[in-house]
Amino acid sequence: MNGKIYEYKDNQDWFVGKWGSASRIHTLGFGADFSKIEQELTHLLGAQGGFDVSVIRYGSDFRLIAFIVEIINQELGRQLEVSQHKNAILVSENQKLQMVHLPEQGVELTDFFGQAEAASLGDTILIATRNEGKTREFREMFAQLGISVENLNDYPDLPEVAETGTTFEENARLKAETISELTGKMVLADDSGLKVDALGGLPGVWSARFSGQDATDSSNNAKLLHELAMVFEIKDRSAQFHTALVVAAPGRDSLVVEADWEGYIAISSKGENGFGYDPLFLVGETGKTAAELTAAEKNEQSHRGQAVKKLMEVFPAWQQAQL
Ligand code: IMP
Repeated sequence: MNGKIYEYKDNQDWFVGKWGSASRIHTLGFGADFSKIEQELTHLLGAQGGFDVSVIRYGSDFRLIAFIVEIINQELGRQLEVSQHKNAILVSENQKLQMVHLPEQGVELTDFFGQAEAASLGDTILIATRNEGKTREFREMFAQLGISVENLNDYPDLPEVAETGTTFEENARLKAETISELTGKMVLADDSGLKVDALGGLPGVWSARFSGQDATDSSNNAKLLHELAMVFEIKDRSAQFHTALVVAAPGRDSLVVEADWEGYIAISSKGENGFGYDPLFLVGETGKTAAELTAAEKNEQSHRGQAVKKLMEVFPAWQQAQL
C-alpha cells in the first residue's frame, strides 16, 4: 500500500479513491447503489487487496468503472482496458474479456451480437415428435422467441429412436442428440411419465407401456389401480408426473430442464379431459383429478407446462452462449 490518493473530476463525475485491504464504494449522502459494480470489480481482483472509493458526484457507470480500473492497474501493474459496446461496459486484459457490466434493464441480445449472429444457431427448431398437438404447443411458445418449429413429420425417412434409457433425461437426450446428429439441426425432445412412490417410482419411463406392448390408456390405468389395491390410505398413494426436456445442437452441450407435478393416485377414475393417467391423478390437495381440469388449467400447472416455462427462461441464454 503506498497511500496514494486518486481523484477524477469533471462536470458530471467526481470520485476519490485509495488502495486498501477490502474493496468498497462509498456514496456521500445520496442514495445510489453501486453494490453490483463493487461485486463485479471485486471478483475481477481476486484476493489482491481492494479499492476504497468515494463517489462525491455521479454521472456514469463507465467513468466510475474506468476510474477504479485505473487504480487497479496502477496498484497491481495490471493492463485492464475499459470499453463500451451497446450500453454494456466491457473490461478486458491482453485481448481477453474479463468482466461485463450491464445496465439494469439488460441489453437486447440481437442488439448486442447483431441480428445475423444471433440467428446463426438457426432460427428453426425440430421437435422430436410426430404428434401435431404437442408440436402446436411448442410452436406457440417458440414463436415468442422468433423461432419457427418443425416436427418429425417433415422428415419421414428418419428412423425411430428406441427409448432405451432408464431415466426421463436419458431418453429425451437420446432422442434429441441422435436426431440432431442425423439432421445437423437444433432438436428438442421430451420424455414424460408418472412416478408412484409406493411402487418405487414405477411406471416411470415405462408409463406408456406399463400394461404391455399393446397397452392403452385404460389398460395402463387398470394395471395401476391393481398394483395399488393394497394401499388404502390416500396419503400413501403419492405420485408425481415428471417431464424432461432436452435441446441438442451439433457439437454443443445439450440444454436440460425438468419439472415435477405433485399429486396422489385416486381410488377410482374421475373426469373426461386429458389423456393417459389423468383420470387417476389427484392434483395436489385439491381432490380434483387432472382429467377434471380444462386444458388451459392443466397447462398452467402441469409438469410439461412448468418444464416449458423453465425452458423459455433459459433457452435464449443457452442459444447465445453457443455462438
Ligand atoms: P410422453 O413421454 O409425453 O409421450 O409420455 C409417456 C406416457 O406418460 C404417456 O403415454 C402417458 O401414459 C404418461 N403421461 C405423460 N404425461 C402425462 C399427462 O400429462 N397426463 C397423463 N399421462 C401422462
